[in-house]
Amino acid sequence: MAGKHLEEKFKSERLRMVEEQIADRGVSDPKTLDAMRTVRRHLFVNPSHIYSAYEDRPLPIGQGQTISQPYIVALMTEALKLRGGETVLEIGTGCGYAAAVLKEAGAEVVTVERIEELVALSKENLKAAGYEDIKVICGDGTLGYAEDAPYDGIVVTAGGPTIPAHLKHQLKVGGRLVVPVGPSSWNQRLVRVTRTGEEDFDEEDLGGVCFVPLIGEEGWDQSKSWV
Ligand code: SAM
Repeated sequence: MAGKHLEEKFKSERLRMVEEQIADRGVSDPKTLDAMRTVRRHLFVNPSHIYSAYEDRPLPIGQGQTISQPYIVALMTEALKLRGGETVLEIGTGCGYAAAVLKEAGAEVVTVERIEELVALSKENLKAAGYEDIKVICGDGTLGYAEDAPYDGIVVTAGGPTIPAHLKHQLKVGGRLVVPVGPSSWNQRLVRVTRTGEEDFDEEDLGGVCFVPLIGEEGWDQSKSWV
């Protein structure tokens, strides 16, 4: 835990981050903005990057992976249209930051990460930040997590070649899946899929994004590496 003065400094940086990087770019959902104001991002970054925690960019977290840019976490959270009390599955826990944001936005959160070291890291970070009721699972998230399905929302924080069918089918009817898709990290679209019926899905393009590869049975091959 940082000292009182440092916590105050980080708090003012966090509030500025939300205004300048997130609200000024058009994210307006109050639950998302409040969650981004609340979660102490500096507890989730690598200690060597603690003074960069509120900068407008992704940061390395080890294992060739990143904590996403704050704006992207907010954009994806808003895209789920949470009202409170939903169950949300996150694929790609990384350091645990976005899972904490989803929790603060009012969701019950299950999150899946394929790299064991990051499962351990995210559990430590979530505990230190006070989020002990988030379920962290080690596994291939392209297959979803059937045990707690169906979900109101699913968010994928790595980019695959196609939208995983397992994830679409683990949505409730009316539920939303937010997922980056594209042939490379510099050519991905953020897509929102809404399940409108048992076998009916609507797709919306939410814009261009840049994510690390989604690796797994319904993602890229293990050898894919863009970072
Ligand atoms: N959600 C994180 C945050 O809060 O900033 C960002 C995570 S990082 C951009 C993407 C993560 O997806 C990496 O930790 C990577 O190991 C993970 N990942 C990639 N393919 C996966 C898969 N099939 N299942 C679960 N996690 C996967």
